[in-house]
Amino acid sequence: MSDSPYPARVDVAIVGSGPAGATYARVLSEESPGSTIAMFEVGPTVSDPPGAHVRTITDPDRRAEAQRRSEGPGRGQPTFDSPGEILDSRRRARPGTFLLADGYRLDGEDGLPLVAMSSNVGGMAAHWTGACPRPFDSERIPFLPDMDDLLAEAERLLGVTTDAFDETSYGDLVRGRLADAVDNGRAPAARVRRMPLAVDRRADGRLVWSGSDTVFGAATRANPGFELFDESQVARVLVEDGRAAGVVVRDLRTGERHVVAARFVVVAADALRTPQLLWASGIRPPALGRYLNDQTQVVHAARLRDVAPAGPTPPPAEGTLAEQSGVSWIPFTDDVPFHGQVMQLDASPVPLADDDPVAPGSIVGLGLFCPKDLQETDRVEFATEDLDHDGMPALRVHYTLTDRDRTLVARAVTEITRLAEAVGDPLGPAPVVLPLGASLHYQGTVRMGQTDDGTSVCGPDSELWAVPGVFVAGNGVIPTATACNPTLTSVALAVRGARRISRAAATSAIELISRRS
Ligand SMILES: Cc1cc2nc3c(=O)[nH]c(=O)nc-3n(C[C@H](O)[C@H](O)[C@H](O)COP(=O)(O)OP(=O)(O)OC[C@H]3O[C@@H](n4cnc5c(N)ncnc54)[C@H](O)[C@@H]3O)c2cc1C
Repeated sequence: MSDSPYPARVDVAIVGSGPAGATYARVLSEESPGSTIAMFEVGPTVSDPPGAHVRTITDPDRRAEAQRRSEGPGRGQPTFDSPGEILDSRRRARPGTFLLADGYRLDGEDGLPLVAMSSNVGGMAAHWTGACPRPFDSERIPFLPDMDDLLAEAERLLGVTTDAFDETSYGDLVRGRLADAVDNGRAPAARVRRMPLAVDRRADGRLVWSGSDTVFGAATRANPGFELFDESQVARVLVEDGRAAGVVVRDLRTGERHVVAARFVVVAADALRTPQLLWASGIRPPALGRYLNDQTQVVHAARLRDVAPAGPTPPPAEGTLAEQSGVSWIPFTDDVPFHGQVMQLDASPVPLADDDPVAPGSIVGLGLFCPKDLQETDRVEFATEDLDHDGMPALRVHYTLTDRDRTLVARAVTEITRLAEAVGDPLGPAPVVLPLGASLHYQGTVRMGQTDDGTSVCGPDSELWAVPGVFVAGNGVIPTATACNPTLTSVALAVRGARRISRAAATSAIELISRRS
């Protein structure tokens, strides 16, 4: 194996370079200097520094090419930017993502027709919106006493801020109108507020969205023990004597497979491909792939009432957020169990008449995300006889809304109508329930549990119950039914897992030293 492009042995092998995998690299770089870390990413590097958000690419043609290169087998298929473009039930992905070719809806089930993935260094976070709300009430994981500390650390790693849109003309007005409609009776922390966003307002006024590059940070980039290998697909996690032993990596440039031995393996390959890789590796605990949950999304638009025309803010670059209204947040509560996101729309999700002039900044989009009624039967399954584009067992999604889900979605439609009327004049005949999977927030498939009772795949440190030394990361680890955007929570859980590895590495290093002396 002397011609292998990869090291023969590392302390930690990380599968996937999205924000969850990047968190392990960062925390280990900061807290376990001297450890060797290899990160493998199936997709190409599309931005500089590796993992940067594609919006940092100013040239529109180069940015579009970076998005296309992230779209794996969907490359070249039509994509959509605004929800209005998928209301005719054509299946389309967002730029930078790709859809499942088949297996997304099985007979008699609702399925997840818009379930999507990204294959590139930085994962979906090279394309995301960066909304980073904290979970509330039943969204929180009840058995993690350190959740708030972990969330604070996740905010640091992702570069989360709430003041990026302070200068916007309509932000306070939108929040004031929403607050009048919503805040009565809510605890102070659950009242309408600015959305925490993973974005940096630079001194020259530019907004720079955080990607995995932000999470890696200077500490990872300067770590001589860290290496990132793109176009390198992990095809198998190796287990010896019941614990992690390494990975088999397929170099996509040559097609050759190589073994990399590792004491710890972190699988951070998104909520669909993480259980897929474990399954392909013969690691098949009962809860693997189960409790799959997505957040059904209801959207609406309203034209702000009684506003003076906004100042001459230039239109935002393609794919960026417009500036006049900022992004407002209506936190989830158990009483009103929706996560609300209100932001300016460049285009309405409902088609406007051609002769209906739109004053810049005067249309806001409202979105409510609903938590799923969790069911063990909602799951992703894998077919050995049928392989996907990467040669892995093909994915089959079983997914059904319960009566409770349908009632909640109907309630969200009523609530969003009320909110749209509160901020202005609602546009279009009715709110729209987006096709399932549109949220891009898939959870539960490698869920965390407090005890190994068969309903979870890993423990509170994200380490598999079944195989010590193998850790899972990403939205699939979240065990609760959340409605809020999940990445902040996933990064928080990854911080805990990485610290566990860091402690274990320190203990075994001390044991090694004492055995030698
Ligand atoms: C348009 C858009 C907007 C979004 N907005 C928000 C938002 O506002 N807030 C929010 O919280 N979330 C948002 N999301 C979702 C967010 O991006 C994801 O929650 C987040 O990226 C998940 O991080 P991750 O590291 O778990 O997975 P990913 O970012 O999906 O990364 C997983 C990586 O693993 C790689 N991989 C898979 N299999 C293998 C293998 N076998 N070998 C090697 N590599 C592999 C993949 O190629 C991928 O790069 C948005 C997503 C999109 C696309």
